[in-house]
Amino acid sequence: MEVSARIVELPLATPFTISRGTQTIARNVVVELSHDGVAGMGAAAPSSFYGESAEHVMATVPRLAECLGDDPFAIEAVFDRMNRSIRLNPAAKAAVDMAMWDLAGKLSGLPVHRMLGLSGLALPRTSFTIGIDDPGAMAQRAAEAAKRFSVLKVKLGSADDLEIVKAIRRCTGATIRVDANAAWTAKEAVTLAAQIAPLGVELLEQPVPPWDLDGLKFVRERAAVPVVADESAVTWEDVPRLAGVVDGINIKLMKCGGITGALRMIRAARACGLKIMLGCMVETSISIAAAAQIAGLVDWADLDGNLLLSHDPWKGVCVRDGGELVLADAPGLGVSPAE
Ligand code: MG
Repeated sequence: MEVSARIVELPLATPFTISRGTQTIARNVVVELSHDGVAGMGAAAPSSFYGESAEHVMATVPRLAECLGDDPFAIEAVFDRMNRSIRLNPAAKAAVDMAMWDLAGKLSGLPVHRMLGLSGLALPRTSFTIGIDDPGAMAQRAAEAAKRFSVLKVKLGSADDLEIVKAIRRCTGATIRVDANAAWTAKEAVTLAAQIAPLGVELLEQPVPPWDLDGLKFVRERAAVPVVADESAVTWEDVPRLAGVVDGINIKLMKCGGITGALRMIRAARACGLKIMLGCMVETSISIAAAAQIAGLVDWADLDGNLLLSHDPWKGVCVRDGGELVLADAPGLGVSPAE
C-alpha cells in the first residue's frame, strides 16, 4: 500500500472559544492510502491538548505506514501494530485507520456502516456547539442555531456560566447540553449543576480536570444532571475505571485512534454500563463521515466539527433540519470533494 499525507489549513467561520482558549484555524492532515489503483482517505485533526500538531502527524504517518502490510482488510492487525509501534499520536493513527476502512469499503463496494452490520440503526441527532462568548452573543448564536438544530452543546468555564445558560434558555426551547472542558472544581460543579438543572440541561460534560476521577464521582453523586467524561475518557484503557464514576463517556476518533479504537471503546463502555456520546474536534467532513459510520451504536452525537469551518473542501454526511445525520450511500466513508 502506498501512503501520502498533506496538511490542510481550514479557517473557522467564527472564532471558537472553550475554557482552554480560542481557535480560528484548524490544521488537519489528509492521509491517502492506495492499493491496486483504489484510494482510501482519512484525516487527522490533531489537538495540542493531547500532545499532537499537524507536524507531528506528518512525521508520524511514514512510521505508521510501516505497519500496513499488503492486506487492506487486516484493519485490526494494522491497528495493533500501530499501537505497538507508537504509543501516542492518536490523530495520526485515526487518519490511517479511517483511510483503511475507506479503502476496504471501496474495494468491497459497500459503505463502512454496512460492512460493520450497522444498517437500519437510527442515528442520534447531532448537537451544534456554541463557543464561549458573552451571554448575549451566545444567546444570539444559540437562537440562530436552534432554527436548524434541536440540540445545542454550550461551552462553559467562563465567569458568566449561570447567566449564559439562563440567557440561552430565555431564547430557545432546544435541548441544552453543557461542557465545562475541565474548568471547574467538583464543588463548583455541584453548585452550578443545581442552578442549571431546573433550566432543562440534559447533561454535563467534563466538569473537573481529567485526572480527578474522585471529583467526577463527587459531582455525579450530587448533581441532578447526568455527568459525561470527555478529557478523562481518551482510549478504551480509560473506560473500566470510569464505571460507576460517570454516567457516560464522550468517544472521539482523534483521541482513541480512529474507527477501530472507537469500536473497542464502545464495547468497553457498554460492558461497563456507560452511555456513549460520539464527539469530534474541529475537522473536515472526511473524519466526521468516519465517525458517523458508527453513530448508530451511540446515544448522543456531537458531530458538528465540519460545520464550524468557513469552507470544507469535502462533503460526506448530510445534516437535515433538527440535526438529523444522513449517511451517504456510497462505498467506504462516502466522502467526495465539495463542489
Ligand atoms: Mg467535551
